Amino acid sequence: MSSSSPSPQDAYVHGRLINLVRTGRALTRPALEQQTGLGRKVVTQRVQQAIDVGLLEDGDLAPSAGGRPSRLLRFRSEAGHVYAGMVGATEMNASVATLDGTLLATLHEDWDAASRPEETLEVLDRLFTRLSRRTRTEPWAFGIGVAGPVDFATGRLVDPPILPGWDGFSVRSWLRERYDAPVWVDNDVNLMALGEWHRGEPRDGRDLLYVLADEGVGAGLVSRGAVFRGDTGAAGDIGHVQVTDDPSLTCRCGQTGCLEAITSGWGLVRQAAARLDESPALAARLAERGQLTAQDVGMAARDGDPLASELVQRATRVIGMTVANLVNFVNPGTVVVGGGALRVGDAVVRTLEETVRRRVTRLAGQRLAIRPASLDFREGVTGAALLAVEQLFDPSSVGLWVENGSPLGHAVPLQRVAGQ
Ligand SMILES: [Zn+2]
Repeated sequence: MSSSSPSPQDAYVHGRLINLVRTGRALTRPALEQQTGLGRKVVTQRVQQAIDVGLLEDGDLAPSAGGRPSRLLRFRSEAGHVYAGMVGATEMNASVATLDGTLLATLHEDWDAASRPEETLEVLDRLFTRLSRRTRTEPWAFGIGVAGPVDFATGRLVDPPILPGWDGFSVRSWLRERYDAPVWVDNDVNLMALGEWHRGEPRDGRDLLYVLADEGVGAGLVSRGAVFRGDTGAAGDIGHVQVTDDPSLTCRCGQTGCLEAITSGWGLVRQAAARLDESPALAARLAERGQLTAQDVGMAARDGDPLASELVQRATRVIGMTVANLVNFVNPGTVVVGGGALRVGDAVVRTLEETVRRRVTRLAGQRLAIRPASLDFREGVTGAALLAVEQLFDPSSVGLWVENGSPLGHAVPLQRVAGQ
């Protein structure tokens, strides 16, 4: 076997060894031999190759169980960078991350994205350009989260209620025209779930259900470390399950009685606006600012305003009942509650937890943990970065570039493997 003419099988083996070290499943050469069944000579050669291209390095001596001690191998997560973006209805975030999902720099922008995909991505791209200059990096890949249903194979949005101008739009195509790097696009809540599973505390590896109550309402499930997307990518889109037969509660999606119509940021504002005579505080706020926001309703609730408290309490209970149904169905170890609409205080999370616990079966509730999101609103970009890393190092992708030590220049075959 000559190292100057590697076969696809060699590249596959090479990628597998790097992934074992990267994910912590094997951290020494003997452990790699054991895990793969490969001989010492092949493992030694391949590890040296990975060290030569900068993806692995030798570290300290491993604790020895007798016999000759071996060196610990370390994955060099600083060898490359991925760019991560999150596009919501009213704001966006852009980050540069290393290959373990550590964010090096993040920029935030308030921006109304609802009806203008092209302009929105131009703003996002300017954030990436600033980050690139600041960190002196170039992207190996992009991970982008968007607040709507995403067909994961094509990266296109499909009928997104809170981003009505984005139906059929391909974030992937837009970025691929500007960068020679592969692009993966996912629903924002899926990525928040992935970020919390990898980086949230406690990091216990149990299945995690993330529930977002924000301008939109959604859920994401990470099971055995992988996002559960369903057949087309629509899994977890709970915002439009029907929770009441009240026909007056119309939703942005065109139906009535949706979870989102009662519990989302826009739903809370609309319900408050219809009953302003019951809330002098919110009426004053509207007169002063000309508009009401979900934050106004949340703050008023925290200050004890009766109408705002009633609306937030009801929203919390309705979400709690929905979450209980989901817990009974998928039996996660942890439920994480995220988003601005419900992050108005501990009391809200407590009410939600009480509602969930009352409604779950004993076995599903036995070891269930319920906690607020723990990454200070960075779980989404963290998850977007991790999506890009996971896809780059996927067994079907990593062999395409690993012998060169970098995927730069391999965007086309990488994207082909991952779907158009
Ligand atoms: Zn709806």
